[in-house]
Amino acid sequence: MFRTMSGIQPTGNLHIGNYLGALVNWVELQKQYEAFFCVVDLHALTQRPAPETLRAAVREVALGILASGVDPEQATLFVQSEVPQHAELTWIMTCLTPLGDLNRMTQFKDKSSAQPENINAGLFTYPILQTADIVLYRAERVPVGEDQEQHLELARETVRRFNHVYGETFPEPQVVRSKAPRVMGLDGESKMSKSRNNEIGLFEPADVTMQKLRGAKTDPARLRKTDPGNPQVCNIFSYHGFFTSEAQRAEIDAGCRSAQLGCVDCKKMLAANLEAVKGPIRERAEDLRQHPARLDEILAAGAAKARAAAEETMVMVRERVGLRAPRS
Ligand code: AMP
Repeated sequence: MFRTMSGIQPTGNLHIGNYLGALVNWVELQKQYEAFFCVVDLHALTQRPAPETLRAAVREVALGILASGVDPEQATLFVQSEVPQHAELTWIMTCLTPLGDLNRMTQFKDKSSAQPENINAGLFTYPILQTADIVLYRAERVPVGEDQEQHLELARETVRRFNHVYGETFPEPQVVRSKAPRVMGLDGESKMSKSRNNEIGLFEPADVTMQKLRGAKTDPARLRKTDPGNPQVCNIFSYHGFFTSEAQRAEIDAGCRSAQLGCVDCKKMLAANLEAVKGPIRERAEDLRQHPARLDEILAAGAAKARAAAEETMVMVRERVGLRAPRS
């Protein structure tokens, strides 16, 4: 059976970009593959969060993953820092990665401009840690959004280089594209992102979402309700593509083009459809929040399984590169 591996950073609240771009896929993949899913707190350190903030975010993201349908009986869910082999393998992979390859990573440029006061080396070597995350489990299938595809290509090159230098060791990971590789933010200008303040939160109550939708841009040429609109250029209509039935979408499309349906009504329909998905997730998340011991147990069991799989790989890797094994 193929293995799949993916992670989410605990850097803020989960949003529907994470849900559509990653979690929906995870829930499907866990049924077909041996799945390792991870809350990547080592990656989050590149943003230097306060320790308490990081600890709380790890729990919130983990319970969001579970509430979205990842089943700990089917998949291994764990926190990256509980498996120290991630950091160990990162160093080995760092020594195999040319600087020039890292220089080409567009996400480094985006992230550096988002935090000009803290352009640390971790931001630069971030994709190497990601490579280690994947190959530590010898994963062959990696579900990611469009923003991560360049990093995946780098991981594939590193795998080829490792195999060439030290002998065939790792399979080349393949990208699994989601149906929503790039969910736009409410500003309609950039992808939905925790750092851009343009997100619809996965745990957000319905009234907060409706409030945000009210202020969101639609077809810029539609100034009055009596103007006919064009759903093709409307960001709100793009969300309907993920949450609304085909029949209702056809109704909205016709109503918008003929100016029979106003933007506020269209947004109310979206809010209701969003709530039909978010409501049950929010409730399951709250239930888990009330039972912290259950979450601890799931994460401890996941970490134990992940450590065993990771150590199996590391025994082989250390031997191949000529390192000595740690003694207990
Ligand atoms: P991150 O929050 O950067 O750790 O991303 C976690 C996962 O969500 C990755 O697989 C991303 O590719 C995916 N993701 C994040 N934002 C979006 C978005 N706006 N649209 C689609 N996928 C996304």
